[in-house]
Amino acid sequence: MALRLYAATTSQGKLRDFRIAAQTHSLAIDPLPGLRSIPAPEENGATFAANATLKAIYYSRLAPGKLVLADDSGLEVDALDGAPGVRSARFAADAGLFDSPDANDNTDVWNNMVLLQRLAGVPLAQRAARYHCVLVAARDGVPLHTADGSVEGLILESPRGTGGFGYDPLFFLPELNRTMAELDLETKLSLSHRGRALVALLRLLDL
Ligand code: IMP
Repeated sequence: MALRLYAATTSQGKLRDFRIAAQTHSLAIDPLPGLRSIPAPEENGATFAANATLKAIYYSRLAPGKLVLADDSGLEVDALDGAPGVRSARFAADAGLFDSPDANDNTDVWNNMVLLQRLAGVPLAQRAARYHCVLVAARDGVPLHTADGSVEGLILESPRGTGGFGYDPLFFLPELNRTMAELDLETKLSLSHRGRALVALLRLLDL
């Protein structure tokens, strides 16, 4: 019987990334049952690994015997000493631009604006960045393995493309001469930091 891994996410995008990366393995990846009704733990870790670990411990305690997968991810910009990092989703909110997402949920637009402000005057060659994902597998509150995946790029001075989400319109891949928001879905998925982290995790789990 195929092993079943329970992901602590209801995001269809993340589940798709994981499933595509795992498609050559004899493995099923499902959302953790009842996840929507479980209050989320506070993600107050200083690193992606700390947040992914606290989530893996928390959710696996609520699902006895199940192998639970938790992730944390975001953007790291070298010229900003790794920011926004674990604060990627809340970069503009931290900068005091708004308290909570507005009615149109323009969070991504605000976050990209803050990123451009922080990098104003920094030449393209010094705008190296990466999407970084850390995955932790845990069972019964015990973390078993931690794995990383990343994709390297440069932060442009203005957005390009309409696809993707988050920082994708500013995240440029020099070897493809495209931003993440200009890629077709298949190419984007083949580069996924989440997918790469999952492949590394499956290796650690010996799957
Ligand atoms: P999460 O906590 O893993 O859901 O991601 C935190 C934040 O990182 C998101 O809200 C985005 O701002 C950013 N992020 C993570 N992965 C991506 C990606 O693949 N594209 C664009 N932004 C991303």
